[in-house]
Amino acid sequence: MRSGFSGGIAQENGTILAIVPDVSVVVPVRDEVESLPLLLEAIASSLAGSELSYEIICVDDGSTDGSAEFLKAQAQIRNDLKAVILRRNYGQTAAMAAGFNYALGKAIVTLDADLQNDPADIPMLLAKLEEGYDLVSGWRQKRQDGAVNRLLPSKIANWLIRRTTSVYIHDYGCSLKAYRAELVADMNLYGELHRFLPALAYIEGARITEMPVRHHARRFGRSKYGLSRTFRVLMDLLTILFMKKFLTRPMHVFGLLGLSSMVAGTVIGIYLTFVKLALHEDIGNRPLLILAVLLLVTGVQLFCFGLLAELLMRTYHESQGRPIYRVREVIAKNVN
Ligand code: UDP
Ligand code: MG
Repeated sequence: MRSGFSGGIAQENGTILAIVPDVSVVVPVRDEVESLPLLLEAIASSLAGSELSYEIICVDDGSTDGSAEFLKAQAQIRNDLKAVILRRNYGQTAAMAAGFNYALGKAIVTLDADLQNDPADIPMLLAKLEEGYDLVSGWRQKRQDGAVNRLLPSKIANWLIRRTTSVYIHDYGCSLKAYRAELVADMNLYGELHRFLPALAYIEGARITEMPVRHHARRFGRSKYGLSRTFRVLMDLLTILFMKKFLTRPMHVFGLLGLSSMVAGTVIGIYLTFVKLALHEDIGNRPLLILAVLLLVTGVQLFCFGLLAELLMRTYHESQGRPIYRVREVIAKNVN
């Protein structure tokens, strides 16, 4: 059981750098103070039964209901909890990215703080990861959310994402997922991208699978999201497509278009020159002449556009060091 992602003690020149747990459980938290005590206990008891060592990383994403204070207090008395407090609300994706950044485990599990995901499912996902997968995604087969406001939009989103990313899992939006740590280490997340992690991982060559997991109705508080999220998710989908096809090699797309257009324009131009010089015919008003000029001009423009996009892409990737969140403080009893 432990072989694949067992932790241990990380050392360099004989100095102990950190105790590496087998598993880091990353939880984004925004105003979930009623759920937190139950959540921490549920995660602990789910992993206590296994022989895996673990840490829980709760990332407070600008809560105003006392969640941050609760987490800080707990982190001072619990050995298994690290509280990462963000400066303000940055969104679920940023909170997850912060959690990934502080996670030391060889495997990383993400889940929601509101007890909609069941921590009891964690060992099952980890066992699946052990079989040789890089990402195991939860599938809420019996999802306990509103039909019109939640299920329908996510059905459409899931279908679209499946069609466009060629990663065939059912439930992208399920937060309960398990990853090999290497996989998330250098993911650049932003926007609503956390739900596209399987697609991003697929681009990176990850082995991905899914498993049915339990899902419960929210017990406390209310969802932080409304319908507007659907729109943002769709926009992110476009970004993903752009990343996959254009952003990686824009020159391949625009350059090819531009080049074909230039070639077509040149061929027509040569033909017209031949007509004029060899056949001594007038080419003054021919539609072909206009076409040739248009094709040549747009061809050159597209080609240059491709070059610019390529440069932009490079700059974009190089500037990715910019964090999408700011951390106010990190509280942990065992400072690693
Ligand atoms: N969350 C967050 N920052 C936000 C919104 C939500 O960290 O800006 C957390 C929230 O506390 C929960 C998870 O993300 O742990 C999922 O949010 P929610 O339950 O509201 O979403 P739903 O289950 O309705 O999709
Ligand atoms: Mg929820």
